[in-house]
Amino acid sequence: MNKIDIFSILEKLRGKIIDVHAHIGSDQRFLFRLNADNAVKVMDRYGIKKGYFSAIESLLCDYKLGNNYILDAVNKYPDRINGLVSINPYFRDEAIDELKKYILEYGFRGVKFHPNYFYIEPSHDLSSTVWEIMIELNVVLMNHTYDGGVEVYKIAKKFPELTIIAYHMGGNLWKEAIDKLYELDNVYFEPSSSITDPCMIEYALKKVSVERILFGSDIPFNDPAVSIGKILDSTLSFNDYEKIFYKNAEKLFSD
Ligand SMILES: [Zn+2]
Repeated sequence: MNKIDIFSILEKLRGKIIDVHAHIGSDQRFLFRLNADNAVKVMDRYGIKKGYFSAIESLLCDYKLGNNYILDAVNKYPDRINGLVSINPYFRDEAIDELKKYILEYGFRGVKFHPNYFYIEPSHDLSSTVWEIMIELNVVLMNHTYDGGVEVYKIAKKFPELTIIAYHMGGNLWKEAIDKLYELDNVYFEPSSSITDPCMIEYALKKVSVERILFGSDIPFNDPAVSIGKILDSTLSFNDYEKIFYKNAEKLFSD
C-alpha cells in the first residue's frame, strides 16, 4: 500500500480549505455552544479558509431566529463565514419570504434543510414550491441524508436543475446513499459524520467523479479532524485532494 504523508498534504492545503457544512449556535442536548469567534479559531487551527454556516437554533428551535444569528456572524466575518439560510417549507409564504430576503438582500449562498427537525419531507408539495423558487434564484440545497438518500433521490430526479449537496453522504447508510444517488449528476456528496468506516471516499469514487465530493466538517457536532481524516484515509492524488478540500466548492459556489 502506498504511504501518504498526511502532514505535508495538510500543510499544502493550509489556508485554502473550504468547509461546506458548518454550524454555530447552542445545543443543550450536548451542553455545547459555538459562537462565530470560536468557530473562526477552529477554522484557523485546521487551515480552513471559509465555511458555509447554518445555525443550530434554526434546526432545534426557530428557523428564523437562527437565520438572524447567522446574519450577525456573516457581517462580523464576511471573508470567513458564508451564510446558509435555513428554510422550513411548512411555514409556506413566510418561508418563501425568508428565502428571498436572505438570498437576494443578504447574499446568503445556499439553503439548509433538515427533514428530521423540520418535520416535513423534501418531497412534500410544500417543499417543492421552495425548490422551484430556488431553481429560479440558482441556489444550492443542503439536505441531510440519514435516510440513505431516499428523499434526495426523489427530489433530485424530479428537479434536475436543482443542485443538491447530500449532507453526511447517508451517514451510517453511506453505501446505500452512494449506490442510490451516484447516477444523478445534480447531487454532490459531503461525507461528514461520526461514521468512519475505512476507505469511504475510495468507494464513492468507484461510482462518482471526484468533482462531486466536497469537504464538510459539521462543526461543532464533530471536530474537523474527523472529516479531514476520512478523506485522507483514502489514497488519492494531491490533485484530487485539492478538488475535494476546496476546488470543487470554489467552482460550485463561484467563489
Ligand atoms: Zn449539519
